Amino acid sequence: MKYIFVTGGVVSSLGKGLAAASLGTLLELRGLQVVLQKLDPYLNVDPGTMNPFQHGEVYVLADGAETDLDLGHYERFTNCVLTRANNLTSGQVYETVLAKERRGDYLGKTVQVIPHITDEIKTRIRDVGANSGADIVITEIGGTTGDIEGLPFLEAIRQFILEVGSGNAIIMHVTLVPFIKAAGELKTKPTQQSIAKLREIGLQPQVLICRTEMPLDTEVRQKLSLFCNVPLDAVIEAGDVDHTIYEAPLNLRDEGLDSIVCRLLSLETKEPNLSDWKRFVQRVISPKKRVRIAIVGKYIELQDAYKSIYESLTHAGASNDCGIDMVLVDAEDIEIEGAEKYLQGVAGVLVPGGFGDRGVEGKIKAARYARESRTPFLGLCLGMQVATIEFARNVCGLAEANSTEFAPETPDPVIAILEEQKDVTDMGGSMRLGTWQTKFLEGSHAHQVYGKTEASERHRHRYEFNMKYRQILEEKGFVISGTSPDGNLVELVELKNHPWYLACQYHPEFQSKPNAPHPLFKSFISASLANED
Ligand code: GLN
Repeated sequence: MKYIFVTGGVVSSLGKGLAAASLGTLLELRGLQVVLQKLDPYLNVDPGTMNPFQHGEVYVLADGAETDLDLGHYERFTNCVLTRANNLTSGQVYETVLAKERRGDYLGKTVQVIPHITDEIKTRIRDVGANSGADIVITEIGGTTGDIEGLPFLEAIRQFILEVGSGNAIIMHVTLVPFIKAAGELKTKPTQQSIAKLREIGLQPQVLICRTEMPLDTEVRQKLSLFCNVPLDAVIEAGDVDHTIYEAPLNLRDEGLDSIVCRLLSLETKEPNLSDWKRFVQRVISPKKRVRIAIVGKYIELQDAYKSIYESLTHAGASNDCGIDMVLVDAEDIEIEGAEKYLQGVAGVLVPGGFGDRGVEGKIKAARYARESRTPFLGLCLGMQVATIEFARNVCGLAEANSTEFAPETPDPVIAILEEQKDVTDMGGSMRLGTWQTKFLEGSHAHQVYGKTEASERHRHRYEFNMKYRQILEEKGFVISGTSPDGNLVELVELKNHPWYLACQYHPEFQSKPNAPHPLFKSFISASLANED
């Protein structure tokens, strides 16, 4: 088993997750089996309790783990199977160690960061490798070198490398090489200092990924190599991608990253075959057509809040040979000024998931606009719930229909909390999470879109369609076309007299890949294209 640790220096937001995922892509295309893991130094047990302003999207895995959005990159860029073990936080480490202490497992010893916390971290790294059967474990450490919080993880890595031997583990350090306009120069000092910080704790990176806005000339590369003690050819230039994040593996390949990693870890493989990946990137960069899709959310100003949705749209666009112009609409603007002003002229409307009542009335208006104007509509999770509320209010005449999440006293709770969720008081990890099976109604639009009668989809929600209203809604042309296999829970709804109106309780965006777009997104884009013509 070989290990690659990915650390970050100078500043955050350098795209460490993407660098790790891209390396994963390249190694996989060389025929190796990889698994990726993220270590997050914060004390939350998982990011499920953090709001999108703090953390961006919460990415949900098949097993129901609520994880960091970098795991989304890992799943989209590689074929590795991720479970809750692949996103370890300090919160989880301490939770485990403290539980052991309470049980008396430490036999009267003083429980300390070294060795008890570091042992726990090392075990979790080793387990991910052993359980995956992969050839290589790529472990990304969240945060930036020099953070107090990250120290136990870095110390654990030092011990780990000592144990597995330096030929079996390397550190790839992602750093910033800033360009100072006034001096007209690229500066290597911040990188030198972040490497010095790592050396202080006994870590020496073997590969440098240099995020830069300017090409690195030979002199800069030599300087980085000399001062950071890294082989010259392992100083890798990583400029901003021109068009799409999916260019990153191609750019890193041009810099020779995968060859260097294989050399350092003595891995003998074939050269990677990048033709499918290149074809996908080409379609993203120069599509034949373009289509305008509105995303009506409440976190649209945050780049990361709807990450997987944006990526899924990109995948679906490429498969339809069309570029997506995403029109990001703040649901609260629609609330105040009406849907028409913001949605007129878009070819499709997407309403994503969300929590809390801010912006909900705007989303309901967006769903109404799409229904009445016969604009293709894709509702995801809360998006399905607002589609239901809208239909109940404006078609079935239940003027005060609502979800009990937003109006606990509503006379018509068309969306309501499940009986078994009523007594739940903990916020963390207590929703309906992860993979559940959906059965589609024979002959429904959903059945046709999926091309099969069942699908496994990932969930993250507390409230459900209230079956008491099934008949009232169905009489008016609302179709419940996807349910749990026992028929008790509504998973997907559609409208009879509409060209394309599908809304699901689950999150298809967590299962779309560059060359395997999710059928719902693919069909939604194709319908939107038809609508634009
Ligand atoms: N707030 C809704 C619920 O908990 C929808 C959740 C979501 O969109 N992820 O059911």
